[in-house]
Amino acid sequence: MPDHRLRNKPDHGLHNNNGGRMNQPGAGYLDTLQTIIDFLPSGITMFNADQEMVVCNQNFRTMLEFPDSLFAEGLPSLRELALFNAGRGEYGEGDSQVLADQICERARGMQPHVFERQRPNGTILEIRGNPMPNGGWVSIYTDITDRKHAEREAQRYSTYLDTVLNSLPQGVTVVNEKLGVELWNKRFENLLNLPEGMFYAGIPFEEAIRKLAERGEYGDVDPVQKARDMAAMAMKFEPHRLERTRADGGTLEIEGRDMRIDGKVAGFVTTYTDITERIRNEEALRRVKNMMSDAINFSPTFIWEADAEGKYTHLQGVEHILGFTEKSLLGLPRAATLHADSDTRDDVARRMKAHEPIERLVVETRHLSGATVWLSTSARPVFDPDGRYRGYRGVDVDVTEITLARQELEQIALHDPLTGLANRRKFQDRYELERLRQARLGLPLTLILADVDHFKQVNDVWGHIVGDICLKAVANLLASHLRPIDMVARFGGEEFLVLLSDANAAEGTMVAEKLRRALESKSIDTGLAAQPTLQITASFGVSTLLPSENIPLEALIERADGAVYAAKRGGRNRVCATESG
Ligand code: GH3
Ligand code: MG
Ligand code: MG
Repeated sequence: MPDHRLRNKPDHGLHNNNGGRMNQPGAGYLDTLQTIIDFLPSGITMFNADQEMVVCNQNFRTMLEFPDSLFAEGLPSLRELALFNAGRGEYGEGDSQVLADQICERARGMQPHVFERQRPNGTILEIRGNPMPNGGWVSIYTDITDRKHAEREAQRYSTYLDTVLNSLPQGVTVVNEKLGVELWNKRFENLLNLPEGMFYAGIPFEEAIRKLAERGEYGDVDPVQKARDMAAMAMKFEPHRLERTRADGGTLEIEGRDMRIDGKVAGFVTTYTDITERIRNEEALRRVKNMMSDAINFSPTFIWEADAEGKYTHLQGVEHILGFTEKSLLGLPRAATLHADSDTRDDVARRMKAHEPIERLVVETRHLSGATVWLSTSARPVFDPDGRYRGYRGVDVDVTEITLARQELEQIALHDPLTGLANRRKFQDRYELERLRQARLGLPLTLILADVDHFKQVNDVWGHIVGDICLKAVANLLASHLRPIDMVARFGGEEFLVLLSDANAAEGTMVAEKLRRALESKSIDTGLAAQPTLQITASFGVSTLLPSENIPLEALIERADGAVYAAKRGGRNRVCATESG
């Protein structure tokens, strides 16, 4: 400290008005005063009643950046200082003389005052003036720039905090370490329907709780006891999270966290979130899930999801349909778990590649036990929000019963019940397909019509049952002597049709001849004691459809019938071909 004084003394030490204008106590007194004020952190100056400066410290000169020249001829008067200040814009715009006059005028008859002045360089000074009994005054200048900045910053952050707190969708309260409620936001007031003014800044936590309890916030409780309990809990400053259902049925999620500053408890922040809607949605979701679960478990249905590679990522209800557990199928490619025929498989692969929906496509698969299960699959592609393909989501319905029933109906509708052969309808369909194929490939197609000889007699002599046995034997014989791609049908009565793919008239005639001979040499077991076996023959008509021809089945049959007629006329048990074929 003394160093400071010594260092300053030669240049700026004692500044007093001497040179005749001096109106001061002795130099000793001034020395002491000077020493004291030089150690003070403020700028200090003292004027006498004549507005002459009596003393000032170095801080005053530095703070206000007065040049040494201003002090070269002793201490300046107020007017000199004011003129200088006005000249450098210290008092804002205006004529320097006028401004200096105003300053001097204002200093006369001065009352104690405090004001702030922002200097042109941005620093902020707090200036305190105090009149002295002899008519002079003391001015004390404090640089409060930093404090002002800090205040402004604090203000700014407090505005931020306010804005943030009040725009939060949650209610927030802050309680200090002494359990005083420091602040809360608008949302908190709304959530708890707080009447205006019920809480005041710093309200003790216990009082706040009691007030809330009195309004029924916690149901039927003793407010005082409740407040005491909760305050005791709060005193622990432990993080907590709870849900509270309010009297109006709404639910609040309340979460408290302790605040620590330098490791020491500084209070806690509590957030209040209205989760009524969320709970309602969760309940609705749960209900829908349960309903779906029931729907899946009580119906022959399972649902699934597959990823972009077609592998199962989710399955529900599959076990009661296929016997496999969900776990055992997860991660497996769906395609590998189905036993669809190749056409269906190709169709599914194509659709999935094109990300097309699949609707009620019936596919065959196997139960864990090996039994055939028919599934009707409906599925649609799944895309994520930015449109990326994610896989498929689908529903499979067990349609085994109905599929088997349909197959049986189809069997009945398209087959002859006595012999099991295709009937006319099925034969007709097959003919249409073959006709198109043969025409496309430029190949002939041959029809054989066979008519059992003297069949009426078989019935008449041995009875209808034996007649039926014979018809079945003929059907078996025909079927067993033909290639799988050929088709044989019962045309009606004791007449049979054979369709030979890729066969010309000569080949057709050969086949017919083979059949004729096979029948002729076959002994049919009748089951009759009197006549254990029977032999029958048939007459065959062969008619060939050339690739260039396009005629309906009836016409072709008519042609073959003509050949049969010729065979009958020719003595039966023979083959005749139509001329055109
Ligand atoms: P043809 O050599 O001239 O063909 O003499 P046919 O006796 O076979 O002649 P026709 O066509 O008049 O007789 C066919 C007989 O076939 C008449 C009918 O009693 C018998 N028939 C037709 N359908 C059945 C059947 O489902 N079961 C039995 N047992 N007989 C049938
Ligand atoms: Mg006949
Ligand atoms: Mg006949």
